[in-house]
Amino acid sequence: MENEYVKEITSKSNDFSQWYVDVILKGELADYSPVRGCMVIRPYGYAVWENMQKLLDARFKATGHKNAYFPLFIPESLLKKEAEHVEGFAPEVAWVTHGGQEELAERIAVRPTSETIICSMYSKWIKSWRDLPVLINQWCNVVRWEKSTRPFLRTAEFLWQEGHTAHRTEEDAEEETLRMLEVYRDFVETDLSLPVIKGQKSENEKFAGALRTYTIEAMMSDGKALQAGTSHNLGQHFSKVFNITFLDRDGQLKNVWQTSWGVSTRLIGAIIMTHGDDRGLKLPPKIAPVQVIIVPISGKNKEMVQSKADEIFERLRCDFRVEMDDRDEYTPGWKFNEWEMKGVPLRLEVGPKDVEKHQVVLVRRDTGEKISVDEAEMNVKIKLLLDEIQNNMFKQAKEFRDSNISEVDNFEEFKKIIEEKKGFIKTHWCENEACEKHIKEQTGATLRCIPFEQDNVPGNCVVCGKKSNKVVYFAKSY
Ligand SMILES: [Zn+2]
Repeated sequence: MENEYVKEITSKSNDFSQWYVDVILKGELADYSPVRGCMVIRPYGYAVWENMQKLLDARFKATGHKNAYFPLFIPESLLKKEAEHVEGFAPEVAWVTHGGQEELAERIAVRPTSETIICSMYSKWIKSWRDLPVLINQWCNVVRWEKSTRPFLRTAEFLWQEGHTAHRTEEDAEEETLRMLEVYRDFVETDLSLPVIKGQKSENEKFAGALRTYTIEAMMSDGKALQAGTSHNLGQHFSKVFNITFLDRDGQLKNVWQTSWGVSTRLIGAIIMTHGDDRGLKLPPKIAPVQVIIVPISGKNKEMVQSKADEIFERLRCDFRVEMDDRDEYTPGWKFNEWEMKGVPLRLEVGPKDVEKHQVVLVRRDTGEKISVDEAEMNVKIKLLLDEIQNNMFKQAKEFRDSNISEVDNFEEFKKIIEEKKGFIKTHWCENEACEKHIKEQTGATLRCIPFEQDNVPGNCVVCGKKSNKVVYFAKSY
């Protein structure tokens, strides 16, 4: 029975993408829905998202941002105002053409992102330098009509946050763009245990309508890249089109400088693909809906063990997210498998012998290690262990990533590594779009980012051989 349960997930090394879907479905994170390309986020998956929201939202507030809400619908004329922007999003926009029986005079887009509707309001709200900066964030859903979809990674509708800010000067906007990228890096590395590379997107990969796009890139455990968050310096592209002007201190009418930045439920996909194993999910303690699962192992002394387990539950409840699995209809072994599958960081076992010895047994999900702990020290020890698990998960992911970065200086080797070894390729690039395109066409790898951290060792472009001072990362991506 116990073995059969585990067998229900495909092995990660045999079929990574089937394993990914199995973990989502069996772990009860999400399910397919009757709507094409749309998923249902189940309570367990939604609890992960809520924990992520809380941690991120606190960081947004700490950096001076406030939440607001804008309409789901955007009139076609508004969406079309910024040319590059509409061109970038046109293939994915879902349109509303009817209201009830009546055909609408103007089509309405279901927001793929909210720059345009927010800019239309900013042009109304911003009049003077005293109104700046405007620092607004929105938690919402967006719709992008994707052709092929995968739960959490790419769905027609997804949840995210989008920050939209307006500033007096170009420097202020650039500072904000980089500040929010750093907020994302800190959140993703500290709370999700996902190591990322910070850098800039190429012209070709930047956000439609942006001056510059910055990104944090993570490596999944199949070696593919996942863009974990982006922050865009929009320059004055939108403010000129939407006429967002203010009277500056010097009495002159000027256009504001803007930024936008976002992360989405896609990060849940990144957590699954980075940390999960053949036994299922592995959740970082900081965002795990259940940090400690108590499994009483009663045998003949059912009442005694259960009352001890209840007492432990009460003592842990104030410090941790804890649940009790006292279902009679399942064996302890079955329960162990189920909670491992759901990625709970710590399992607490208590049996008759433990009650006698005034101890509990803790089992780590990340290492499988079993630790007997004196009841009196239980809370302190659990706190330490959760921190240790959080750090260990980051360390393991970082070691995996670093050992899967290949430095390459010729194109034949580049192709071979993409085919056989996977992972990121670190190489010189001449900053010419033609070379970037050539790589994409020949290998399927895209330029993930131009990292901020540069070795400053001159080299030659991996495609054309021209002198280059820029080292960049290429990879296949989600
Ligand atoms: Zn080149």
